[in-house]
Amino acid sequence: MDRVSEIGPTQQQPSPADFGFTVDHRLESGGARGSDGRPLGRAGTIRTPHGDIQTPAFIPVGTKATVKATLPETVAELGGQAVLANAYHLFLQPGSDIVDEAGGLGRIMNWPGPTFTDSGGFQVMSLGVGFKKVISMTEQAYSDAEVIAKTKDRLAHVDEDGVTFKSFINGDMHRFTPEVSMRIQHQLGADIIFAFDECTTLLNTRPYQEDSVLRTERWAIRCLDEHARQTAERTHRPYQALFGVVQGAQYEDLRRQAARGLAELRGAEAAEQEFDGFGIGGALEKSQLGTIVGWATDELPENKPRHLLGISEPDDLFAGIAAGADTFDCVAPSRQARGGTMYSEHGRINAKASAQRRRFEPLDPECDCYTCENYTAAYLHHLFKANEMLASTLATIHNERYIVRLVERIRSSIVEGSFAELRDEVLGRIRKR
Ligand SMILES: [Zn+2]
Repeated sequence: MDRVSEIGPTQQQPSPADFGFTVDHRLESGGARGSDGRPLGRAGTIRTPHGDIQTPAFIPVGTKATVKATLPETVAELGGQAVLANAYHLFLQPGSDIVDEAGGLGRIMNWPGPTFTDSGGFQVMSLGVGFKKVISMTEQAYSDAEVIAKTKDRLAHVDEDGVTFKSFINGDMHRFTPEVSMRIQHQLGADIIFAFDECTTLLNTRPYQEDSVLRTERWAIRCLDEHARQTAERTHRPYQALFGVVQGAQYEDLRRQAARGLAELRGAEAAEQEFDGFGIGGALEKSQLGTIVGWATDELPENKPRHLLGISEPDDLFAGIAAGADTFDCVAPSRQARGGTMYSEHGRINAKASAQRRRFEPLDPECDCYTCENYTAAYLHHLFKANEMLASTLATIHNERYIVRLVERIRSSIVEGSFAELRDEVLGRIRKR
């Protein structure tokens, strides 16, 4: 797309028709089924003003408008179809007004493709609180709603109107409301933005989760209204698609109620405004991940995309896709890469381990990434030991490519009807190690 034209005065009124989703293939065997027997999993295409996304897709995270240690060109070369940045971090630094003046998120970071921002809700509510996205069965389960505040210095306070929190950069107090999050995300200008939701944990009590689902729905209505106002005012910018976020923790009735509610929701003032897609958020118990996603997707309309927030482990990706999630994001591949933990067909490899010191072959001989095609495990080991910056770059390229390619292979398997075979092969090799 000619990038000058998108902010030119001749730009047509942004319209919900500029965004869309089509289901290309259904996961006929090996996936989960809805209550009416239809397959929940699918391969599809998301259409945005900055290009298409073939789904399922893993979306690399560039929290502060950069996928750490990589060039945007590199992210595109390794198969990244879109980038997801964080509204809260960009609001604090450099400021969403500055990103707006620069022409939006894609323009300031020189990424011409589709972009996402998450609402900031998770970061605002989780910083300093010790939230985890996926909690394994082995971790002790608490039931006291206050346990979080007791054990850690809680930086955020949730009330009916929004969240007051302390900046992790300088300790300044800030307030996020649904309206503030929408205004910030419109200034950032990503193609796909998320409604401001309350993120609970598995440690919150059932009554708290019930209240939270209802509050998130009230906030969702306010997000729809503010989104409609911003869309009407900012006609110089391409249409931004708004996703509602399904919460409800580990409770089937709450997840279904939340999903059904958001699917039918309209603005209070903007009676036509509905969600363009949906996020599935909140903490998920690992062994229940596919089941919980399936409860939500069973209630959501088929013709709108679903994004599973904060997921990238291979077994979680297979489970999420089998249950009907279309896109995924997570900081883990690049964060682990910078620490020297590398993904491979046979599970994790520690690039710093002495076993890599004289391995004069690619880190993962089966990988097609730039790093594995051009460098040896021994060189990567040396760069990590010498604390060279290139270690982070080469490692990030490999890990991001591994996850992006894995999801590409899952997409092909849905098209070709070999999903279960691929899942058994990939997960079997990882587990065998
Ligand atoms: Zn590689």
